[in-house]
Amino acid sequence: MKRTADLKTEILAVGTELLTPYFQDTNSLFLIERLNDLGIVVAFKTIVADDHEDLMGCFRTAMKRSRLIISMGGLGPTEDDRTREAAAEALGRKLVFDKTVSRSIRERFRRRGVRMPSSNRKQCYVIDGAEVLTNPNGTAPGLWITSGSIRLVLLPGPPHELKPMFEKDIWPRLRAIGSGFTLRRVLKITGMSESLMEDRIRAVYPKLPPEADITTLAYPGELQVRLSVTGAGDPTSSETVLGTLEKLILKKLGENVYSRTGETMEEAVGALLRSRGRTLACAESCSGGLLSHRLTNVPGSSSYFLEGVISYGNTSKNRLLGVPLSLIREHGAVSGPVAEAMALGVMRRAGSDYGLSITGIAGPEGGTAAKPVGLVYTGLAWRSGAAVEKNVFFGRREIVKFQSTQKALDVLRRRLMEEEI
Ligand code: AMP
Ligand code: MG
Repeated sequence: MKRTADLKTEILAVGTELLTPYFQDTNSLFLIERLNDLGIVVAFKTIVADDHEDLMGCFRTAMKRSRLIISMGGLGPTEDDRTREAAAEALGRKLVFDKTVSRSIRERFRRRGVRMPSSNRKQCYVIDGAEVLTNPNGTAPGLWITSGSIRLVLLPGPPHELKPMFEKDIWPRLRAIGSGFTLRRVLKITGMSESLMEDRIRAVYPKLPPEADITTLAYPGELQVRLSVTGAGDPTSSETVLGTLEKLILKKLGENVYSRTGETMEEAVGALLRSRGRTLACAESCSGGLLSHRLTNVPGSSSYFLEGVISYGNTSKNRLLGVPLSLIREHGAVSGPVAEAMALGVMRRAGSDYGLSITGIAGPEGGTAAKPVGLVYTGLAWRSGAAVEKNVFFGRREIVKFQSTQKALDVLRRRLMEEEI
């Protein structure tokens, strides 16, 4: 990603707790995303404990190499909150008592019917020359400091205080400094391996203009191609670049792309069922209800999802879905014929347009040489026919279950896309 202007930027996450196994620095993920939206790329991210000397060292290093420095945390009222003091010392500035801050903190306590504890007094001191950023969600105000060409921002640590302060006070200030932006698009892909996808899209890389970037990510059952274009000023030409890039990728990956605007697989399938006016019922064995769960996570799914049956045992497959016990005896519960019979059975039972089924071995036990862990059959039935697919998934139990549902949904998605509207 290209950097907008020369605003070398770094983030400082302050807090001893962030260096234990129990707390994660999630604020910086939020900050990086929002800074990227402005075309600002973060060059460094440091996590430092609440230690005066170490903190001061971090501020000094940051001020040598960066123009925008955003710290978060350590602005609280307790003894171990030392960010304000360390930043002041690194800048060579004094801390001065701020009457307005003092009044607003006192007022905050008064509204709750209590006097301000004396420990909050330290929060009334601000770095000389700083702009004070009010904090409607807590006691610690933020500080915006300009020192030569450096902008130093101190934000409170609690995410529910930091986020609104960033949106209200930091975003507009940064926006005014540069007119950069990043446009993004995420394509979600399924039904192919990461390496096959790479082979197909490799030809696009040499055509990438310098302001554009492609990153690929792989999750079980889902690949992502993330496109971004940074720019400044009028976004029209960047939008065209992004659009052209997306078209190139779509041409290479075809129907494997199931999402272009962030939708999940179950949302994509739901939208297709709805637009085609079709209904669905599911019969699940090894996925234990996950398929129905995912489908019903989509608001409004009652207009197309009629019922889901969890038929885990053999007799249940027979009793609830009408799968002949002889079929199970002959082929085994994990088999193509049983997957097909389950899909047809649940469709007839529900009176739906489609029946979708899953039967497999989620593991970690129960596999054999002929039927290994991860072997999953998915079945799809429609009014005039049925089809099954054999899959072998890798990974632990939950991952096999997820991939089973992803595959079943994808089979239905592809079928629905072929249907005439
Ligand atoms: P502080 O401003 O240091 O008093 O921070 C108070 C609380 O904010 C901490 O106990 C954390 O729960 C939370 N917090 C601080 N820094 C971060 C961070 N970088 N990411 C997420 N939460 C944080
Ligand atoms: Mg802290």
